[in-house]
Amino acid sequence: MRYTYCPDCGERLIDKNIGDEGLIPFCEKCSRPWFDGFYTCILAAVVNEFGEIALIRQGYVSTEYCVGVAGHIKCGETAEESAAREVTEEIGLVPESVEFIHSSWYEKKGMLMLGFRVNVKKTELKPSCEVDSAAWYSPEEAMKVLRPGSSIQRLVAAVIGREN
Ligand SMILES: [Zn+2]
Repeated sequence: MRYTYCPDCGERLIDKNIGDEGLIPFCEKCSRPWFDGFYTCILAAVVNEFGEIALIRQGYVSTEYCVGVAGHIKCGETAEESAAREVTEEIGLVPESVEFIHSSWYEKKGMLMLGFRVNVKKTELKPSCEVDSAAWYSPEEAMKVLRPGSSIQRLVAAVIGREN
């Protein structure tokens, strides 16, 4: 998301050379740069005490593959809080711990995905209205039902300690 007008005063921005950053949209009226914006989302590899992974199906994302619990970080929330909240909201589990694994850039939507391992106790999954279905998968099954090379497949591979 590249700014053309100043979000504060509405003035048209000019390109200004800002040190090492190069040409950046700049508001002369407010005297400040507006760096490109993008959404930051969390992606969760939800793991139970038996090493199984909880994955979901969402028809509007893919009819062929499972996907992981994911969502936008809310203003005022840490990424860890966001990961825990999304797991509770989307599949009804209470996280015991949350661990950052790695981040990935989602080119298609221009989003930074922060990938977490979310540890839970194995209980019944309660999918929210945003989720068509949810189920536990063994690590081997999980790798097969995820789109090859996707952010969630790479995250699950990192969490279970194997490459694709
Ligand atoms: Zn301005």
